[in-house]
Amino acid sequence: MNHSRRVFFFVLVLVLLAAAPVWAQEAALSLRLDRDFGYGGFSGDIQGTFSFRVKGPETLTEVQFYIDKELVGVDQKAPWRYQFRTDDFALGVHKLYATGRTAGGDVLQSNVLQREFVPAARGWDFAAKVVIPLILLSLLIPMSMFLLGRRRGDRKGAGYGIWGGAVCPKCGYPFARHIWAPNMGLSKFDRCSHCGKWSLVRRASPDELADAEERFYGSPETESELQLSPEEKLRRQIEESRFD
Ligand SMILES: [Zn+2]
Repeated sequence: MNHSRRVFFFVLVLVLLAAAPVWAQEAALSLRLDRDFGYGGFSGDIQGTFSFRVKGPETLTEVQFYIDKELVGVDQKAPWRYQFRTDDFALGVHKLYATGRTAGGDVLQSNVLQREFVPAARGWDFAAKVVIPLILLSLLIPMSMFLLGRRRGDRKGAGYGIWGGAVCPKCGYPFARHIWAPNMGLSKFDRCSHCGKWSLVRRASPDELADAEERFYGSPETESELQLSPEEKLRRQIEESRFD
């Protein structure tokens, strides 16, 4: 008798332990905030159109959405969601949360999110002060280097485009850096169009490019000769021989 009672309690504890995680999950209502349109800063500043998103147990029948103590919306079917505009509320810090009702009559409480509703101007300020200048800079620097090189009338090392030329560290061939090659600081991780090997290449100076060109194509005088077809060479030799 004593022994079977002990077994009974042991089994009961096991069942409770196994049920505990499911139970805890049942009771939880998890709230997150989605940005549908607008601005969300790093420090919890928000402005624009946002949505409450709630996840809860299957037995949920209703979710109520709150901003501070004010009931702002009710949803009676999944997905549990409520959209609002921050401009419809006072500026400043607000507490956002939700409560849920289950079929069994339980009331569930969600986590609380704290956000600061900021004026529309601050969102634009952030874009104007940080994002737009960054985009412009990343376009302007290579563009101005390209134009500057052209204005100087530098024929040496020209013709490599906006992203400049590079000398392949593997085969020494000069090639134009590609727009799609990822930037790594001042270098790009780029593929040599001659040997096909990948390496980290920085923008080479006009002199370096000219050196590399000469190594590969020879000096400008011999270049025209090398590129002649055999027939043309022969024709030229014949033509030249008339003056001998
Ligand atoms: Zn190469």
